[in-house]
Amino acid sequence: MKISNLVDQKDYRQIHRQLNKINHLASTMAELSDAQLQAKTAEFKERYHQTHDLDSLLPEAFATIREAAKRVLKMYPYDVQVIGGIIMHMGNIAEMKTGEGKTLTAVMPLYLNALSGESTILVTPNEYLASRDAEEMKPLYEFLGLSLGCRVSDGERRIEPEEKRAIYQKDIVYTTNAVLGFDYLIDNLAENATKKFMPDFNYVIIDEADAILLDSAQTPLIISGAPRVQSNLYELVDNFVVTLKEDEGYSLDEKREGVWLTSAGIDEAERYFSVEDLYDSKHTELVKHIELALKAHTLFENEKEYVVRAGKVCLLDRQDGRILEMTKLQGGQHQALEAKEHVEITPNMRAMASITYQNLFKLFKKTAGMSGTAKTQEDELIDVYQMKVLQVPTNNPVQRVDEPDEVYLTLPEKLRASMELVKKLHATGQPILLATGSVELSEIYSQLLLAEKIPHNVLNAYNDAKEAQIIKEAGQYGSVTVATSMAGRGTDIKLGEGVAKLGGLAVIGTEKMLNKRMELQLRGRAGRQGDPGFSKFFVSLEDEIVQKYSGKKIEKYWRKHKDDPPNRPLGARYRRIVQNAQVVSEMSGESQRRLVLSFDESVKTQREMIYQQRNDFIFQKGEFSYDIMGLIEKDIVAFLKTPDLDAQAVKRYIFDNLSYTAKISSKKLDVTQPDKLKEILLGIAQNELRKKDKFLKTAVQKADFYRLCLLKAIDTSWIEEVDTLEQLKNLTLARTSAQRNPVFEYHFEAQKAYQVMRQNMRRLALQNLLLSTITVKKDGSLDIYFA
Ligand code: ADP
Ligand code: MG
Repeated sequence: MKISNLVDQKDYRQIHRQLNKINHLASTMAELSDAQLQAKTAEFKERYHQTHDLDSLLPEAFATIREAAKRVLKMYPYDVQVIGGIIMHMGNIAEMKTGEGKTLTAVMPLYLNALSGESTILVTPNEYLASRDAEEMKPLYEFLGLSLGCRVSDGERRIEPEEKRAIYQKDIVYTTNAVLGFDYLIDNLAENATKKFMPDFNYVIIDEADAILLDSAQTPLIISGAPRVQSNLYELVDNFVVTLKEDEGYSLDEKREGVWLTSAGIDEAERYFSVEDLYDSKHTELVKHIELALKAHTLFENEKEYVVRAGKVCLLDRQDGRILEMTKLQGGQHQALEAKEHVEITPNMRAMASITYQNLFKLFKKTAGMSGTAKTQEDELIDVYQMKVLQVPTNNPVQRVDEPDEVYLTLPEKLRASMELVKKLHATGQPILLATGSVELSEIYSQLLLAEKIPHNVLNAYNDAKEAQIIKEAGQYGSVTVATSMAGRGTDIKLGEGVAKLGGLAVIGTEKMLNKRMELQLRGRAGRQGDPGFSKFFVSLEDEIVQKYSGKKIEKYWRKHKDDPPNRPLGARYRRIVQNAQVVSEMSGESQRRLVLSFDESVKTQREMIYQQRNDFIFQKGEFSYDIMGLIEKDIVAFLKTPDLDAQAVKRYIFDNLSYTAKISSKKLDVTQPDKLKEILLGIAQNELRKKDKFLKTAVQKADFYRLCLLKAIDTSWIEEVDTLEQLKNLTLARTSAQRNPVFEYHFEAQKAYQVMRQNMRRLALQNLLLSTITVKKDGSLDIYFA
């Protein structure tokens, strides 16, 4: 076995000791009857109950499910799969190449960890994979007496909390990262225990771990609620922005990541909107909308960052070209895109709850992962998730031939050269997977193939529904498949008859991918399980990644020669330059992720406190133990500290917060005697509470009422806070060019916002407790109306 470094060596020695034990048990297990094998689960559970130690159960548990897999699925996990399973039980990431059988590998650690009775979850990047793997593995788990649930999104149907709870209560649950994240957020909006359905997070295995933990982690999950006041500026401003030209009205920074008006552009805007000084504070909304529209036109490209489908702007996952469901750009950017594309402008919703994937997975006691490509980003995975990446050798040696990149000066040269290769290989019948970095390029190749009369399938965001089907056929004789880098990750490409003799599947990359992992993923589509295969990438200096991430020198060279007659590929020096651009691109991705994570730090601290408090209330049993009068007193004391207090203000405070009906003469409200005043106000509050007691007959009713008042106060102010923080983040990001540290500034402001929220929360609780009205329904239950 190839051992990557000294630190890993110790792990590998330990893993091999375990593997030997498991192999040693194989013949014993094989001799057991089905019933004896099945009885193992109960035995293990009992032993775990005594020892609380899963590690000591590992060899037997693995050997048991290995034997069961042979009998139920007719697949016997190879040694390398057992190794992968051990790595994942240890809470690390197993790097196993495509087609090595990660689905079966995960079954071993999932079985072992589920024996503890705590939540055991497998997360995949999409619902197709979650359902497919759940269905295939279900008979195995059930043979061993464990239940399996598969949780995919609700779709059209509204799924009740009970149903969700039933799924999450199964021994093992298969789901997707998006569903898990949204479920977690929704669960924490539940108003009482009957609406809660999530288990405590214990053990999770993340399939395609790099896609989920790195690429998806670039954008946080956000649940949106009530619409914000809608602006009518989007279309107006869009009409203006299209009149501007690059380097005249606006300019872009070198990496084309930032855009702003030039002074000519500012003059233009002032004329267009008839304003004297655009940067006067009364025009901030206008300026904001101009910035959004400029970005929409320059930084977001149709068919690259998004597609327009059925009159809607749908964002694309940059990594795999899939449509990002349930995701919209925040802060008005989505609406600016809609204006640009002349589709209906959707309401800009307020954020109600949010979390990053990083912090979602950190909620688990133990996390593990598997992927064909993770080692290149191990440092980040250790840093952020404390997971090592251990490489597992393939069951059979890799036979695929990976050729070095062919780099051309211009896009047309590259297209021609790659098409030549396609024609040559296709003539022999060898199946070809043409991988592009964008929907746009996939459509171009489709046109070129059509012109050559080569029949082919196209797999991109427009037809992702047929993804699995298309990918399954990609290995057949003579088949040509054009795919954005999504290329059915997770779906195995099996070779058709006679194809191995022709050299297996040929993967032709048509541009340099944003990072090494994506490239390795694509190459890995060919040569599975020791099959023959071929891969090669075509690049031009006009590719986005080269333009964006290589220096001025390259640009100069390109400008000088771009109109030369078509030429041979460029030399090794240019291959290295392209390689470097890819490294810089991945670094930029990483810093983007770290920024997302550091912004979430403040939200995380606040979210944890709030969720904790909610759960305390929701799950509190018996007597209500919260000090209601203490809360009321705190608010009164805070109020009495208001500077320049007068009797009028006190009266207003009473009617706004304590009682609609208190009869109190202004003369009694002597602001020079705060202690006496405090007693009076407290008396009013107490009186109101006592009036409620008429309806709240039992201790349980009373506790329920108090709980509801507090929860409502928490939720109203917390949802407000989430939205405030989201807006604050967008504002801070827009100002990153300033000298100050944006994240530091954000945390400072977030801390202040938190204090304000706590005060609002207390005030709201007070109002809910004192100003609400209670009526008794016919069946004896209570109806509560909040002010
Ligand atoms: P990966 O996720 O690693 O790309 P999959 O889990 O999709 O791979 O498995 C690829 C194929 O290998 C599947 O068809 C699966 O049934 C098969 N397979 C996996 N493990 C074994 C095994 N131990 N014996 C026989 N076939 C296996
Ligand atoms: Mg897989």
